[in-house]
Parts: sequence; C-alpha cells; structure tokens
Amino acid sequence: MDKINIKRLEVFAYHGVLPQEKKHGQVFVVSAELYLDLSVAGKIDDLNETVDYGEICHVIKAFVIDNRFDLIETVAEGLAEKILIENPCLKKVWLEVEKPNAPIPLNFEAVSVEIERGWHVAYLGLGSNLGDRAEHLRFAVRELEKMSDCRVLEVSSFISTPPYGYEEQGDFLNGCLKLETLLPPRKLLDKLLRLENKAGRIRDMRWGPRTLDLDIIMYDDLVVSNNRLVIPHVEMHKRDFVLRPLSEIAPNLVHPIYNKTVSELLGEL
Ligand code: ATP
Ligand code: CA
Ligand code: CA
Repeated sequence: MDKINIKRLEVFAYHGVLPQEKKHGQVFVVSAELYLDLSVAGKIDDLNETVDYGEICHVIKAFVIDNRFDLIETVAEGLAEKILIENPCLKKVWLEVEKPNAPIPLNFEAVSVEIERGWHVAYLGLGSNLGDRAEHLRFAVRELEKMSDCRVLEVSSFISTPPYGYEEQGDFLNGCLKLETLLPPRKLLDKLLRLENKAGRIRDMRWGPRTLDLDIIMYDDLVVSNNRLVIPHVEMHKRDFVLRPLSEIAPNLVHPIYNKTVSELLGEL
C-alpha cells in the first residue's frame, strides 16, 4: 500500500514515570508512516485527495506537548487513534515514539516504542424479540454511529424470523451491519455487550428472549476460537436469519474457513 512518511519529528514534552521527567521535560522523537491510496492525488495533483503531512506534523506536536503521560506507549496509542479518526482516507498508521534521553544511566542511543494501528472491517448480526424490536436494533445502529472508533458503513433491512433454539418465545427481528472499527475483536465484543446491557438485556437462559443481541459475524478475514470469542460466528453458515440480511450488504464476502461466499452459503441452506 502507498504511504506517506514523517521522519523523526522532534518535540519537547513531559511524559515519563519519574517526577523529574514531568517537571523538566525532555526531547521526544516521533516518526510516522501513514498508509493510504495516493494514486488519485498523484494523477490529478490535488491535496484534497491525500493528507496534508504538514498539518499532521502539527497535530503530532500539539498532542505530544498537550498531554502528560507516564508511558510513551500511551503517547503512541493516543496519537494513532487521533490521526486515524481525523483523517478518514487513512487505512493504517505505523508510529514510533522515541526517548533519546530517557533517564537510564547507561550509554544508549534511544529507547522507543513502535505500534501499527488501523481500521478493520467487521460484520455484526443484530437481533431482538422483546419490546419495540425495531427500535432496539435502531438504537444499536445509532450508538455505534456515535462512537468515534467505529463507522457504520451499511445496514441491511430488518427481517422477522421465527425463534431459534428455544421456540416458546416471540419472533425475532434480525439484521446485519457493516462496520469499520479501530477496536480489536475483544474490545469490540466488550462494547457490544455494554450496548446490550444498555438496551435492558437480561441474561437468564441460553437462546432466551432478549431486547438486543449483537454478535460479531466476521472480522476482516480473521479466524479465532477461544472461550470468549469465536470468529467467524460459529453458526453463521447455518443461520438463515444471519445469511439473508448479510447477503443484502455483502453477497460476495468470503467465509475464511469454508471458502464460500455469503450468497453460496445461503444457497446451500
Ligand atoms: P449465539 O452465539 O448462538 O447466537 P447468543 O447470541 O444467544 O447465542 P449470548 O448469550 O448473546 O449468546 O453470548 C454468550 C457469549 O458468546 C458472549 O458473552 C461471548 O463471550 C460469546 N461469543 C463467542 N463468539 C461470539 C461472537 N462471534 N459474537 C458475540 N459473542 C460471542
Ligand atoms: Ca446470537
Ligand atoms: Ca450474542
């Protein structure tokens, strides 16, 4: 992927665990690689098609000066998030934050941290069968839209489906959405569980009635399986109420284990 590099920008600031570092300050050196598609800007010679590296240098400088963190890890994390949120055309950033004069009584050139952060694409399944079902699903969409580290790109229509697993309960309303997010899968799951709680979900029985259920169906082409999280969702390929709305917004999305598109999986049901 194309990138813009910012090499060794020096900023005098006050991060550090030791009191003297917060009091007297020291030099920090920040390098950044900003990943984006530069082909259009390059062809038509237009700044609007790229990011203004001068402006980003000033953003870096202001962020490093205006905060006082213990850790350069925190400087890097906060900077990556700010740069990615403020510049929608960036896909990914790599950052290095160096402390050339870290208070270590030894001979060394510098200590530094390097991180890489970026936008990920996730597909979520939404379900409700208690109260105002459509309002609960719309609530989830609105709450996700409000989060600066998430962008809702597409929402399917909502379909009414018979209950699954435990049948003595009302019909569900189900939908899917496409999300871009800076959150890693675990953090995304935590946010979704919080939203379910906010919508008044009570967890008493497995597959029981609920105001709001938010499942991670896919996350990039990631395959994970542990006691908290299984991605792709373990039952997605068997569920009409997932595949039907998903096929509206992502018919050609490929399941990374079965190597079949959503349309193909739906056709096989
Ligand atoms: P199902 O997952 O079969 O649709 P459910 O949605 O009713 O059932 P919940 O009670 O909402 O299940 O979730 C139980 C747990 O499932 C969550 O706390 C979470 O740790 C785990 N889980 C595993 N994989 C996922 C996933 N891909 N998305 C959401 N939760 C998941
Ligand atoms: Ca579910
Ligand atoms: Ca769930």
